[in-house]
Amino acid sequence: MKHKYCRHAKPHFHDIHEECGVFGVYGHPEAANLTYLGLYALQHRGQEGAGICSSDGKLLYLEKSTGLVADIFTEKKIKRLTGHLAIGHNRYSTAGGGGIKNVQPLVANYALGSIAVAHNGNLVNAEQLKQRLEAEGAIFQSTSDSEVILHLIARAKDSDPYERIAEALRHIRGAFSLLFLRESELIAVRDPFGVRPLSLGRVDNAYVVASETCAFDLIGAEYIRDIEPGEMVVINHKGLHSINVLQGNRKAFCVFEFIYFARPDSYIFNNTCVNTMRKELGKQLAIESRVDADIVIPVPDSGVPVAIGFSEESGIPFDFGLIRNHYVGRTFIEPKQNIRHFGVKIKLNPVRDILKGKRVIVVDDSIVRGTTSKKIIKMIREVGGAKEVHMRICSPPTVGPCFYGIDTPTRQELIASSHMVEEIRKYITADSLSYSSIEGLKKIIRTPEDYCTACFDNNYPIMFPRKKAEQMEFIFA
Ligand code: AMP
Repeated sequence: MKHKYCRHAKPHFHDIHEECGVFGVYGHPEAANLTYLGLYALQHRGQEGAGICSSDGKLLYLEKSTGLVADIFTEKKIKRLTGHLAIGHNRYSTAGGGGIKNVQPLVANYALGSIAVAHNGNLVNAEQLKQRLEAEGAIFQSTSDSEVILHLIARAKDSDPYERIAEALRHIRGAFSLLFLRESELIAVRDPFGVRPLSLGRVDNAYVVASETCAFDLIGAEYIRDIEPGEMVVINHKGLHSINVLQGNRKAFCVFEFIYFARPDSYIFNNTCVNTMRKELGKQLAIESRVDADIVIPVPDSGVPVAIGFSEESGIPFDFGLIRNHYVGRTFIEPKQNIRHFGVKIKLNPVRDILKGKRVIVVDDSIVRGTTSKKIIKMIREVGGAKEVHMRICSPPTVGPCFYGIDTPTRQELIASSHMVEEIRKYITADSLSYSSIEGLKKIIRTPEDYCTACFDNNYPIMFPRKKAEQMEFIFA
């Protein structure tokens, strides 16, 4: 995957965004080790920090830190995470991140014992709930949405632990794929809209749960099924037990998981292959926006399957005209003078032999602010020596920010929210620019009514509290 970078100079109205990966295991002697591997495979979903919480049936053990999975978990740390059940979390990097205190799993002690939570998604009413809880005396340790969930569980009245969690979940609104760890059980829940993916698998005699199935492949686990929207799955010594805890009136799978976020070798949202979807999007794009050219190149990595599909459909040869450095970290020391556009250059470099004198089609998954495309095109022309540069984007124009867990800037910063395609073309200095049509995208995803496409059509399936809607610059009649 493309290395995710921090795009928020300043957090907008919400402190942090939860664009993350979760992994859990029940019933394996090396639960922590499997979780470590699972998080390793899910690293693309978050690079700010990671944590694992395990249990031996009596006590919870926690190790977490900022940084990458491979750097955080030493053999010594994994050894300390004893027990046959564990959950883990990868956190996405954002400006308002708050460092270690926001790194999950979050652990709390409450009336029924200990509980840890790992959350992927964003709650839309977390601020309201937090204010209310604080007014009633609650003390928060982090700025994370997910801590609200722990407070609600601690305050719930029911003596049945599952009903207690369900009661808490009935207060929260938004996107949540959640893993809870209690002393002797693993609990997985998906919001009623099913915004973020969450899959159930099996390895040996153990159950595993992960944001994406690429985590199963690494540990040799077999995919069983998705955790259903609104479903709570409890896994303990009695086996697996499913409870339908949250009713929804529709599904709202995040279409951007297919377009950008998930790994192409994963199968998400009812076992659909991400790579196949991207290739089909590329084919659709080629049908919709034919142009005479000599070569199709992707902006790696997420553009690769799209460009292959585009090439197959158009008959225009595919090549790797841009090479990505996969080892770019979060920060690098920039020289003060002479090297301009360093930001993109450090990540991507054009291959002159492939591009020189050619009419080039560049395929990417999305344009957000437009700055990346502008720099790439300049580089392809000036360094690569391309004769023409035609930009093709496999998603429709990004017009709406995401409030359900994808890190997008504010509406004003989204170039397509205030500019026509021709204006964007001029800005990025392309010879031509085409996006996928919304109809084309809906055709590829086959059951569009089950997807959230808010970033492309402003159709937000999960309602916001009024205050939040006002902050989002929604116009009220
Ligand atoms: P921009 O320069 O703001 O237009 O960014 C566009 C680039 O960011 C494209 O190459 C996308 O692949 C990539 N991108 C899209 N969405 C995200 C995201 N949520 N986080 C990080 N990168 C993204």
